[in-house]
Parts: sequence; C-alpha cells; structure tokens
Amino acid sequence: MKILAVNCGSSSLKFQMYEMPEEKVLISGNFERIGIENSFYSYKLNGEKIKKEAELKNHAEAVKILVQELLDNNIVESLDEIKGIGHRVVQGADKFDKSVLVTDEVIKTIDELSSLAPLHNPAALVGINAFMSIVSNAKHVVVFDTAFHQTMARETYLYALPYELYEKYGVRKYGAHGTSHKYITKTMEKYYGENKKLIVCHIGSGCSITAVKDGKVVDTSMGFTPNAGVIMGTRTGDMDASIIPYLIKKLGYSADDIDRLINKESGFKGITGGISDSRDIEDGIKEGNEKCILAQKMFVRSVVNYIAKYYVLLNGADAICFTAGIGENSPETRKEIMDSLSSLGVKVDDEANNSRGKFVKVSSDDSKIECFVVPTDEEVMISRDTYELVK
Ligand code: ADP
Repeated sequence: MKILAVNCGSSSLKFQMYEMPEEKVLISGNFERIGIENSFYSYKLNGEKIKKEAELKNHAEAVKILVQELLDNNIVESLDEIKGIGHRVVQGADKFDKSVLVTDEVIKTIDELSSLAPLHNPAALVGINAFMSIVSNAKHVVVFDTAFHQTMARETYLYALPYELYEKYGVRKYGAHGTSHKYITKTMEKYYGENKKLIVCHIGSGCSITAVKDGKVVDTSMGFTPNAGVIMGTRTGDMDASIIPYLIKKLGYSADDIDRLINKESGFKGITGGISDSRDIEDGIKEGNEKCILAQKMFVRSVVNYIAKYYVLLNGADAICFTAGIGENSPETRKEIMDSLSSLGVKVDDEANNSRGKFVKVSSDDSKIECFVVPTDEEVMISRDTYELVK
C-alpha cells in the first residue's frame, strides 16, 4: 500500500512516499520557497537527487507538481494507488492524544488551536486542504507532535500560574517532537522489550528531553511552546520569566520583540553573538573561541540537568538515547554529556561512540545505564500511523 508522509511549513512542503508495511521509501523530496520568488523543488529517487526550478505560488501548485512527478516517474500509475496521506501537525494540545483520520471536525479543531502554534498549524491546514482537493480519493490522517506527550500527569504539565489561565486559555505544558520520541521509544521496545525506563535526548537545532516509562511519556522538557527546556540553536531554553517584564520596561520591547529574542536570537546564537549551528560551535571550540567554549558548556550542563532530573523522576533509568542532528552526529557532545553523568555510573565506550548517524550502543559494558545513538525517523512514524488508520 502506498502511503505519503507530508510535512508542510509556511513556505515549504516535505514529502516521503512509502510502500507499506514494508516501509520502503519510494521517493522523497522537498518544495521550498513556496509563495516566494526563486522557488524550487528537489527529490531523491533511486539514490539520485534531482533539483528543478518551478514557480510555486502556493501549496496547491506544489501538490500538483508533486502528483505529476509521481506519475511521470512511475511511482504510481494512477493517483488512486495513494491510499493514505499522513500530515504532520505541530499542535494538537489536549484535544488529540493520537493520530486520527481527517474530518471536518478535526480540521476545525486544528484551526482553533492555531493560537497556540500561529506559524505551524495554519501551514499544516493549507497543506491538508491542498492534498484533499487534489488527491481526493486518499484517506487523510493527521499526526500530532504533541500527541505522544499527552500521558503526562496534571502535576507535571501544569505551571504554577493561576489555575484559570490553564482552564480558560490552555496555558500548560504540551511538549513537542512527540513523533520523534515515539519513534525512538518504539525502536528501543523492539531492541529491548517493553517496560523499560528511557531518557530520550532529541538534540538538534531544537532540543527536547523526554522521560519514558513503560512506553509512555512521564515528562518532557519543552513546554507550552518549544522554547522551554534545554538551550538550543537559537532558543533560550528555561529561564526566569521575570527577565521578560524587566526587558520590556528597560528596553521598551514589544511582545513580538520578546518572541523573536527568546526564539530566534538566543541559545547558541545569542551566547556566541551569531553562531547557531553546533558544527560551527565545534569548529569555534577547536580555534579557541571563548564564546563557543562557553556556549557548549552551558548546553551540556542544561542537557545533563534534565537527564539527572529524569533519572530521579523515573527512579533510575535503563537507557539514555541520543538522537537528531547533534545526538546522532556529534561524538564530542555525547561524550561530554556522558562524562558529566559519571556519578550515575555512566561510562562511555570511546570506540563505539566514534560513530555518526547509526544505531549503536555507546556506553561501555560496565556502564550502570546503557547509552545509545538511535537515528530518528519522523516520516516513517507518520507513515506507520497513517497505514494503521487506513488499512
Ligand atoms: P531540526 O531540529 O531542525 O530538525 P536537526 O535534528 O537536523 O534539526 O539538527 C540540526 C543540528 O544538528 C544543527 O545544530 C547541526 O549543526 C547539528 N549537526 C548536524 N550534523 C552535525 C555534526 N556532524 N556534528 C555536530 N553537529 C551536527
């Protein structure tokens, strides 16, 4: 059965088509700069990458081109072969604890939740509508980044704000990266069996750490928005909220100024004065750049703090899993994190840790907690959920 996994941003559309249940990738690609000049798209087919320029005025035009490419490249002979399309949606809040088939009611709810994810939910809806009108015989499924975190207890997801702010305005922790955390949890269940205690570190340009017990999320580091938790490429992570009114009074910042400051100008970028990519941070460290050294120390500290906190919360841990851009590709950062956990009995296997982008145990055999690199795959997770609902 052919299933398409789709991730729409405000000016982009990423896709991956699978033969399910074999999970074979047939084609994958990306439409970029939709609605902006110089738009283009690229796709990967049989190991070859093809890039084409195209005027993409809106998402519907991108979908039309995508469909034509599927036909031209003999991925499908007719659109009716596409049985399911899974759409990634960032914010499902407490309305969705799992992936669901798209209905009018579902679309309405995603729309209503746009105030919680003003950049992302509207973009996903544009994509869903475009695909529904062009690939109308397929079943459409929405997969929420927040759904996997819906198992958190109230005492975990509430902030100590007046309770009515939660009741009236939905101010609570929702978390993010749920599709990735779920994928890692499922991968570890296959490897390890169920009923394990996992600390999953999704560390890329966005970072979230999640405590998982018996396959369910107990706590996660991102909060009401993805700004919370550990230090990231351009986000602050946790900080004293009173800094915000202080800056408003001192510098006359508006709400939008603050939003930009804490989400786009902070983290690695803020500390170093412009470097947000961890590869550049690593290069800076090699050159003795003090700000890069400082940013890396702060980052490692923030990750270690969360792991320690979740170790206590879970009453011990069977495994720590590293995933996403940094987690999969930076042996140095993993080593620094694991070395900082020596008081918990974590020991690195330096030889095994010297690897990138593949599943590997990176702790030594006498480590009290096993540590793994587990490459994430959000697209296949979307495809699996879609397949389950469509078949
Ligand atoms: P996103 O959160 O946007 O999905 P990714 O998971 O792709 O991001 O992670 C991007 C981050 O991973 C960037 O900070 C990038 O520098 C980092 N990264 C990718 N490859 C490496 C590498 N070889 N060494 C260190 N960091 C890396």
